[in-house]
Amino acid sequence: MALATLDAIILQAFPYSETSKILRLLTPGHGVQSVMAKGARRLRSRYGGILEPFTDGFATFYLRQNRELHTLSDFELVRPRQALGRDLVRFGGASLLAEIMLRTASEEAAPEVFSRVRSALDRLEAASPETVEATALAETWALITALGFGPSLDRCVECGEAVPDEGELFLDYAAGGVFCKACQGGGGGGRVLPEPARADLRALSAGVVVELPRTGAHWQLLSRFLAFHLVDAASLRSLDFLYGARGAQ
Ligand SMILES: [Zn+2]
Repeated sequence: MALATLDAIILQAFPYSETSKILRLLTPGHGVQSVMAKGARRLRSRYGGILEPFTDGFATFYLRQNRELHTLSDFELVRPRQALGRDLVRFGGASLLAEIMLRTASEEAAPEVFSRVRSALDRLEAASPETVEATALAETWALITALGFGPSLDRCVECGEAVPDEGELFLDYAAGGVFCKACQGGGGGGRVLPEPARADLRALSAGVVVELPRTGAHWQLLSRFLAFHLVDAASLRSLDFLYGARGAQ
């Protein structure tokens, strides 16, 4: 048992008892960890109200092997990220990233995924109002790719052959990518992806923010794809929230 101080992003914070909070933290070296912040809900808490979702800091706790819940002993603030809460789409985008991390939670070290989430939150905060939706889409697809289940867009998921950049292809959600013309596909859930849509999706999956004239179809595609790759994705609250928030902007 060792007292460890880890880089941490708060993915989720919920009340526990009258006075405490439970936090789900994303760390580079120990994946997702749960900690109890005793006294965090007290008016004069030493945490001073900083233990909110997306806050970035250093969390100190006793890291015990095979322990479900650790006890937080300190949290040093690095970035509060309150700006994310002032805009529905930014908040929805950040919540979606957090929800994906929680649904795929593991305690394995994943420093690249941690950096990805941290820079994604920074970019969501900084994006201009015109690019915030495309940024949320790009960061989500890029995170999915970093987690290892990004869509295969340049090789057929069936035979592994390279597919040409030109022309439309069938994207199979469950198989997680496109089918070449020879393999066809199309039996399961999926959709025909026109050439420009595939180019956009390729860019978004690389985290590149592209100009998207119509975002509705992109959110739908993301939602259907996630439904096949995340446990219980039908209840992704942040995605529903985001879809509604776009109209409210
Ligand atoms: Zn093929």
